[in-house]
Amino acid sequence: MDVIILSPLENVIIEKLAEIVGEQFISTDDADLVSYSSDFMIDVFLKPDVVILPENTPQIAAIVKLANENSIAITPRGAGTATHGGSIAQGGILLDLTRMNKIKELDPISMIATVEPGVVYEDLNRITGKSGLWFPIEPPSGAVCTAGGMVGNNASGLMALKYGTTKDYVLALEVVLADGSIIKTGKSVLKSSSGYDLVHLFVGSEGTLGIITEITLRLIPKPMHLSTAFASFPSLNGLNDAMNAIYEIRRVLTPAGIELIDLQTQKAINEVEKEKLVPEVEILVIFEIHEFSAAGLEDQKDLIEGVARKHNCNEIHWAKDDEERDRMWKARKAATVVSVRSRTSTLLGDLIVPIKHVPAIIRFIQEVAREKDLLISIVGHAADGNIHYLIPFNQNESKKAFDAGDAIVYKTIELGGSITAEHGVGLEKIKYMELEHGESLSLMRAIKKILDPKGIMNPGKIFPAEKQ
Ligand SMILES: Cc1cc2nc3c(=O)[nH]c(=O)nc-3n(C[C@H](O)[C@H](O)[C@H](O)COP(=O)(O)OP(=O)(O)OC[C@H]3O[C@@H](n4cnc5c(N)ncnc54)[C@H](O)[C@@H]3O)c2cc1C
Repeated sequence: MDVIILSPLENVIIEKLAEIVGEQFISTDDADLVSYSSDFMIDVFLKPDVVILPENTPQIAAIVKLANENSIAITPRGAGTATHGGSIAQGGILLDLTRMNKIKELDPISMIATVEPGVVYEDLNRITGKSGLWFPIEPPSGAVCTAGGMVGNNASGLMALKYGTTKDYVLALEVVLADGSIIKTGKSVLKSSSGYDLVHLFVGSEGTLGIITEITLRLIPKPMHLSTAFASFPSLNGLNDAMNAIYEIRRVLTPAGIELIDLQTQKAINEVEKEKLVPEVEILVIFEIHEFSAAGLEDQKDLIEGVARKHNCNEIHWAKDDEERDRMWKARKAATVVSVRSRTSTLLGDLIVPIKHVPAIIRFIQEVAREKDLLISIVGHAADGNIHYLIPFNQNESKKAFDAGDAIVYKTIELGGSITAEHGVGLEKIKYMELEHGESLSLMRAIKKILDPKGIMNPGKIFPAEKQ
């Protein structure tokens, strides 16, 4: 898409933007711009021309209208924890939505919440939890990430096996479109067959189709009884043992989550956290189960333990209390961060393959690591087929790290998988979009052109440059 982006912005534009939001909620100060210049992991630093913190939908509509009239890029941002560059901006306006963090309505009868996009995931659940309700996505970044960013990326997390992903909970949206108009799409109802499903067009669109200013979410009852276990698969064939156990368990029950951590990541967790948070074995699996009765929980535990032991699990340890359970999840949540420790940069993969191919893709990643002499750690939502690999590298290793990342992605596509399961395409995964989507990428471009003819909404993301 040909995009004409005005940058740097003229003073007169900055003055008009300041009139919309108020002087204290706009900044062109270099220190502020730098603080928005990266996301959690991508090794790219790009600065916007201006950062704006709007307070409400009319302000956003006015900002977008002005931007559209003057061909100025707008990049929405929640907490900036996406790891592929989706929420960083090369020039133009960076729209920080964290001031819009209100829960506008909580309807415990219909079990629905309507929220502003800047509400933080865990804050929302603290409030809904008082009514026994839950938005069950549980991304490891949940202490900071926002509802808008979760919708932007169609985020998922540690409990996707049982509860699905963000899209399964979004019922309705308010969106400011590229011309500054405001639409409402969807209803506070659990199903509808009325017209095209525009709600789910915006979910996962990474800010490229409009600014989401209100989100209506379905909630579910918070389970009363929870348990978490570490299961150790020590043999050199631990990966096959663990996955065979997981395949068998999935056919008879649906645990809330099943996570897999390789030995390298386990060592990094214990080293960085300076305590032995996890056992060190070939493959460690975390099982999380949820039930509404204590007896039901015990039945699930027995079943999981029986199947795991049949597949050479030598130890399965269920948390004794909430404190131990929290420690187990602390270890898992640290996994993405600790593996980065020894190098200056990191390439983070977020692939997903059909579940039957999980052993094949993990073996392939391990082979690539050996061949290229790289340390690649693997941690993942194993029972969904969603595997994260982290390749920490120094500058002199960057070519082989990126070559390794390419090889892993090509293998993922060959196995029928997708380049990103939950972190989004952003900047980093653009180069694989044609490979994954083929002809349907043209349809995505056509949709983008209808909704954003000037290409001002989060330009440079998702789509590769068009061939001339
Ligand atoms: C340690 C760690 C672990 C993680 N684990 C997971 C995981 O298990 N599962 C998972 O899904 N993700 C995970 N992530 C990635 C990330 O945290 C999530 O995708 C999260 O939902 C992003 O929320 P955010 O508020 O940080 O969004 P941002 O990073 O600010 O934005 C994400 C995308 O949404 C767009 N966007 C933001 N707000 C809006 C809006 N109001 N309207 C339109 N577009 C918008 C942005 O432009 C960007 O493209 C992890 C990240 C970290 C750092």
